[in-house]
Amino acid sequence: MTFPAKLPIPSEVLKIAKKLEDAGFETWCVGGAIRDNLLGLENHDFDLTTSAPPAEVQKIFRRTVPVGIEHGTVAVLDATNQPHEVTTFRKDIQTDGRHAVVEFGVSLMDDLARRDFTINAIAYHPIRHEWRDPFQGEQDLAKKLIRSVGDPNWRFQEDYLRILRALRFSARFEFRIQAGTLEAAKANAQGLAQLSAERVRDEWFKGIQTAKKLSKLVTLWRDVGATRIWLPEMGAGSGELGAVDTLPRDPVLITAYLAKDPASLLTRLKCSNKDIERGRAIGLWRDKYPDAKDATGIRRWLAAVGEHADDLLVLLPAPRSALPHAVEKIRAAHPPLALKDLAVKGDDLIAAGVRPGPDVGETLGRLLEEVLDDPSRNTREYLLSRV
Ligand code: ATP
Ligand code: MG
Repeated sequence: MTFPAKLPIPSEVLKIAKKLEDAGFETWCVGGAIRDNLLGLENHDFDLTTSAPPAEVQKIFRRTVPVGIEHGTVAVLDATNQPHEVTTFRKDIQTDGRHAVVEFGVSLMDDLARRDFTINAIAYHPIRHEWRDPFQGEQDLAKKLIRSVGDPNWRFQEDYLRILRALRFSARFEFRIQAGTLEAAKANAQGLAQLSAERVRDEWFKGIQTAKKLSKLVTLWRDVGATRIWLPEMGAGSGELGAVDTLPRDPVLITAYLAKDPASLLTRLKCSNKDIERGRAIGLWRDKYPDAKDATGIRRWLAAVGEHADDLLVLLPAPRSALPHAVEKIRAAHPPLALKDLAVKGDDLIAAGVRPGPDVGETLGRLLEEVLDDPSRNTREYLLSRV
C-alpha cells in the first residue's frame, strides 16, 4: 500500500485547518480517521493536531468547547454546531500508568511519537497533501499489524489502557498484534488493575460494539490476562463463546450473557443501577424459561421477569426456539400481568371489607395469581367474589 495523493477532507475540517494555518500555525489531520480512510473505511471524524497553543485555538475560533483543555484538546464548533477536535502538539512528560502531565510547544514528530500504535500515528496535511509517517504505520496497515510506537513495555507502562486498545483494534480490523507488542501486553497485564473502572468499561463496551467477531475479542481479553483482572466472573471456559457471535451488539446484554454473576461484574464496571438490574435479571432467569406450550406458565413468567422479558428472549438457547412465537401470541391478547392491570384496586378491596394494611397487598397478589392462571377472571365481579 502507498499513500493516496489526496484524502477527501470534509469542508468544515478543511476550513478549520486553513484558518489555523493562515494564523501561522502548522495543522495536520491525525488519528483514527486517517487510519480508517487508508483502510478504505468510512470515517469523516478527522482530528486535527496543531502547533497553536490551546489559548490561541480558543482565540482564533468564535465558538469552542474546552473538552480536554488540560491535554490541549479544544472542540471547534462548525456552522452546523458539529464539534471538531483540535489538539495542540504535545508530549507526555510524566506518566503513572493512568494519567499524563503534558507539555506543549513541541513538534509534530513529538506528537506522533506519543501516540499508541503505528497505525494511529500517521499525519496528513489537508492543504499541502503531505504525509508524515515516522513509525511506518502505513506498512503496518498493509501487513495488518498492531504495533506499539517505540518500546511496547514502556508505552504500556505509561498508560495501561493501551493494552486494551490494542485488543480492540486487533478484533475490529482483524489485525495481528505484533509479537513484541503482544508479549509486552501480557507481561504488563497486572498494571490494568490501576485503571479506573470507567475507562475499562468504556473500552470493553467499545470493543463489543466494534469487533468484527466478538468471540475473538473475548479470547484476546482472556489470553492477555485482562479478563482475570477486570472480568473474573467470565471465568476461563469458552464453551458458550460460539453463540456470542450471533447476539446483538448490546454491551450490557453481552457482558451479562458472558458472566456467571452478571450483577457483580456490572457493579465492578461501575455501570448504572438500571444496567446492573438488567444483568441481575438475566443471571436470575436465564435457566428458568417456561414451556412454549404452557400459556399459564408463560403469563407467570412474563409477570415475574417484567421489563426483562425481551432480553431473556434474545438470549434464549436454540432448542427453545418455539418460545418467542408463543410469547408473541400471548402478548397480543394483552393479558393482565401486573397488579396495576387488575380490574380491582386496593380501595375496592377495603370497601369490600379487607383490613387496610398488608392484607390489601397480599389479597391483590393472590388475585393476580388467579388471573395469571385464567385472564378471563379479570372482572370486578369475579375478583370481588373471591375476596
Ligand atoms: P476510534 O475513535 O475509531 O476508536 P481512534 O484511533 O480515533 O479510534 P481515539 O480514542 O479517538 O481513537 O484517539 C484518537 C487518537 O489519539 C488515536 O488515533 C491515537 O493516535 C491517540 N490516542 C488515543 N488514546 C491514546 C492513548 N491512550 N495513548 C496514546 N495515544 C492515544
Ligand atoms: Mg477517534
